[in-house]
Amino acid sequence: MALDCQTCGACCVNLPSNQAEGFTTWVEIEPDARLLTRRDLVRKLVTYDADGVPHLRISADGRCLALRGAIGGRVRCDAYHDRPAPCRRVQPGDGWCLRYRREHGLDPAR
Ligand code: SF4
Ligand code: SF4
Repeated sequence: MALDCQTCGACCVNLPSNQAEGFTTWVEIEPDARLLTRRDLVRKLVTYDADGVPHLRISADGRCLALRGAIGGRVRCDAYHDRPAPCRRVQPGDGWCLRYRREHGLDPAR
């Protein structure tokens, strides 16, 4: 059975192993991302690192602030049509997907 992103959301939460290592910036946003032209979304979803590079903002528990719903339940992305390139790169069933699912306690295969 194909993996269904709308009942997953695991790759929209920082990996527990990253959090354990203290990473607070997470998905980097490419300079020409459409997201960066949306002032409303920038205000809510973007943070800048010490070098001024934009990243998706995450909550203390590692969730991207655009993610709605509970991991493994019904989820959606509030910025889906404007999400940055790294969000588009992860594909259901690829290596990153399976790693995220495994680390967040979801069966990698279903
Ligand atoms: S971890 Fe995989 S199945 Fe889950 S939302 Fe991301 S790409 Fe989709
Ligand atoms: S912007 Fe959307 S797709 Fe990207 S990590 Fe956040 S919730 Fe997931």
